[in-house]
Amino acid sequence: MSVREVDVTIVGAGTSGTYLAWRLAEAGYRCLVLEKDELENLGTRIGPFHMEEEAFERFGIPLPEGEELLHRLETITMWSPDHRNRATARFATLDMDKPAFMRRLHSYARKAGAEILEKVEFRRVIREKGFPAGVEASGSEGDIEVTCRLVVDASGIDGAVRTSLPDSPWIENDPIADLDTLIVYMESWGDLQGEVGADINSFLHFQGWYAPSYGDELIVGVGMPASPEGARKRQQAFAATLPFTGRAVSSTGGRVPYRRPPLSLLDSGLMVVGDAAFLNKPFNGEGVTSAFTACAIAAEVAADALARDDLTREALWPYNARYFRDQGAKFAFLAAAMPAVVSLSQEEIDFLFTVPGIFSEEGTRALNLEYELKSDPATALRSLPALLAGIATGKLRPGSVAAIVKMGMTAATLRKLYEAYPEHPVAFGAWAEKVKPLWEKADAARHGYFRRLLREYE
Ligand SMILES: Cc1cc2nc3c(=O)[nH]c(=O)nc-3n(C[C@H](O)[C@H](O)[C@H](O)COP(=O)(O)OP(=O)(O)OC[C@H]3O[C@@H](n4cnc5c(N)ncnc54)[C@H](O)[C@@H]3O)c2cc1C
Repeated sequence: MSVREVDVTIVGAGTSGTYLAWRLAEAGYRCLVLEKDELENLGTRIGPFHMEEEAFERFGIPLPEGEELLHRLETITMWSPDHRNRATARFATLDMDKPAFMRRLHSYARKAGAEILEKVEFRRVIREKGFPAGVEASGSEGDIEVTCRLVVDASGIDGAVRTSLPDSPWIENDPIADLDTLIVYMESWGDLQGEVGADINSFLHFQGWYAPSYGDELIVGVGMPASPEGARKRQQAFAATLPFTGRAVSSTGGRVPYRRPPLSLLDSGLMVVGDAAFLNKPFNGEGVTSAFTACAIAAEVAADALARDDLTREALWPYNARYFRDQGAKFAFLAAAMPAVVSLSQEEIDFLFTVPGIFSEEGTRALNLEYELKSDPATALRSLPALLAGIATGKLRPGSVAAIVKMGMTAATLRKLYEAYPEHPVAFGAWAEKVKPLWEKADAARHGYFRRLLREYE
């Protein structure tokens, strides 16, 4: 057994763990990242992925170049299922090679002084007097015992550290349920024939999209709850609606979390970031930049706590408060509201695309860049007669409108509660009791929709 001593142990060298290690190493702390896989393999199961261009500056990451940058995409278009109507927003998204991006992030973290050990798997947190004091891990060269002041779970969707912890109100330790995951299935198509829209094209009804991939190929992908087989069938159903054909050259996929984050992301000596904390964008499951937002806060808070040598829950609490009051509150709203919107029928979504102001360029931009469902009162008022006419003529079911209003109210209440996330752990218990019943309602609505999809595609 080899023994090591560092300030911070980070479990997982994905985008979240590596970015956090980079930031903390830059701040002068000894960081050790443990990765169970080979570093060369990271990102290969995903291949091409997207990041908003403006995020690079925000997170202090140089822009990609050369083979890492596949395409610079200038627009995102949301389409009605019948392809008759669309809303196009102009902002740049970079289509990149994930393995190359991972290699670059690893090199930044190492240059800043972080150490990354590959093929080393986290086993358990070592505790002293109830406080985390390090981790035990095992690798190809034997077992390792690391002593540290802070342990970070950045191990992805299965939350290896989080789920190994004893029951506590501060870090939920339940493993993610199948019904809280979205299977992303993507095919890369060549030999394209027909009319292909420019850049990124998004289809709410199938949680589907197509966009350029490597070379001249095109990714045609969908999200589907829980079932890999269902995801393939949903992708075929989506592909059949497209105004072009192509030959599937390869396919890839994986799981993303699709549920609320744990109500607290930390406890004394512990933090959770990235997919391990379900910090993905609720409208499309992307989780790289949304996790960087949390990692940037976590790095500042941890650096401050390490400088004072105070790693108590109270000292780390600003990570919870700062994350949840801002991005966390917006995501809580979207996570609760989205199922009522995406579960509308194809015909209802087609109809809504014809109502001015519902799907707009500004709305598409605001959703993707600010995580807001924007609708100014004047536009909403103008669209009211058209919406009422839709109900009267059967294009919009009253039940759908009622579900949107009901979940919209739950979502708005959740957002307000998260915007007032407790400043101090002492108020956390009472706050958690207020949000839990609201999440139960939101989860029941989402699970109902997911079960319907599973019946449809299995
Ligand atoms: C098909 C697909 C396409 C996607 N496309 C996009 C996209 O275009 N844009 C976007 O923003 N997001 C996208 N996502 C989501 C994005 O990939 C994730 O949100 C992001 O990778 C999460 O990063 P992470 O570091 O938190 O977790 P991960 O990337 O999962 O990294 C966790 C790491 O921890 C390691 N680990 C796990 N257990 C242990 C252990 N016990 N010991 C040591 N190491 C361990 C794992 O091997 C892994 O390397 C996509 C996801 C999928 C599945």
